[in-house]
Amino acid sequence: MENVIIIGSGCAGLTAALYTARADLAPLVVTGIMPGGLLTTTTIVENYPGFVDGIDGFQLMMNMQKQAERFGARLRTLSKVESVDLSQRPFAVTIDGEIFHTKTLIVATGAGHRHLGIESEHLLENKGVTYCATCDGALPMFRNKPLVVVGGGDSACEEALYLTRFASTVYLVHRRNELRASKIMADRVLGHPKIQPIWDTQVLEILDVSQDEVTGVRLQNLKTSTETTLDCAGVFIAIGLVPSTQLFTGILATDEAGYFKLTEGSKTSVPGVFIAGDCADKVYRQAITAAGMGCVAAIDCERFLQDEAHAG
Ligand SMILES: Cc1cc2nc3c(=O)[nH]c(=O)nc-3n(C[C@H](O)[C@H](O)[C@H](O)COP(=O)(O)OP(=O)(O)OC[C@H]3O[C@@H](n4cnc5c(N)ncnc54)[C@H](O)[C@@H]3O)c2cc1C
Repeated sequence: MENVIIIGSGCAGLTAALYTARADLAPLVVTGIMPGGLLTTTTIVENYPGFVDGIDGFQLMMNMQKQAERFGARLRTLSKVESVDLSQRPFAVTIDGEIFHTKTLIVATGAGHRHLGIESEHLLENKGVTYCATCDGALPMFRNKPLVVVGGGDSACEEALYLTRFASTVYLVHRRNELRASKIMADRVLGHPKIQPIWDTQVLEILDVSQDEVTGVRLQNLKTSTETTLDCAGVFIAIGLVPSTQLFTGILATDEAGYFKLTEGSKTSVPGVFIAGDCADKVYRQAITAAGMGCVAAIDCERFLQDEAHAG
């Protein structure tokens, strides 16, 4: 019988692991197929407090892992939670075909960026293709260069506005002929001298895989089918995020976009189940906020077990 199983090993999961380990709960962390989470996919992280010169994303996550392990967290690396039964306590969690029982559960499964789904996007990721302007926009490779943002919602507009600080021009490539973003955001974008919208257009290919870096995009106008090529140094894809909450469909409450709904702090409608990180956050989605939510979930979990011990 486990005290707590933590699903996910990103900033939220590993921070929850550190706190629950220091509370002597010996957490079992199921890392999933991405040990260290989304931040391992980036190079330098410059906005995580405490690192004057920034820190490599992978290194930061390995540090978090070691720190949690030092206090007794146990990691099941590359293991995946396949199903959960939360209908009674202890909860039953199936990990790689094996059933584990646990008094509490912390869910920190994160959210993945929606992809365009073209091969060149995948091959040039972190070589000029990125999903986070706040994280990567200030990199030297993008400074004073034309940049492309793909998308038409609030996130795409935010990315485009943010990138105007660094780019020579920001091309906003959108499939429709108007933005889906809120009016205030759309007005800001459309009134900005550095932002040039490209309507009714999809990205067919990101160039140039043979050079192993982004040099441009091949576009297609959806109304005329005309193909054009546009030079750029970076492609920022902002067509939405997909929260990893499918495991809990019909079990835990989610909003219309699929993000977990929390009741109080990190709590859910099922006592003993706590949530942390990007799987419940469609607004901030930063390493530090995910880590903060991991801390909240761990403290809620520890207090829940303490109250139960006193009551029983
Ligand atoms: C390219 C890039 C650069 C970024 N740069 C920055 C930056 O510079 N600064 C910043 O603050 N933020 C940055 N971010 C955002 C940051 O990475 C996220 O906000 C943060 O990783 C969220 O942490 P999380 O723990 O909630 O989720 P994630 O990091 O997404 O971790 C989710 C974890 O859940 C696991 N998992 C999912 N399903 C299962 C399952 N069924 N069983 C077991 N495990 C499962 C995964 O394997 C993973 O370990 C960046 C994001 C990207 C993509």
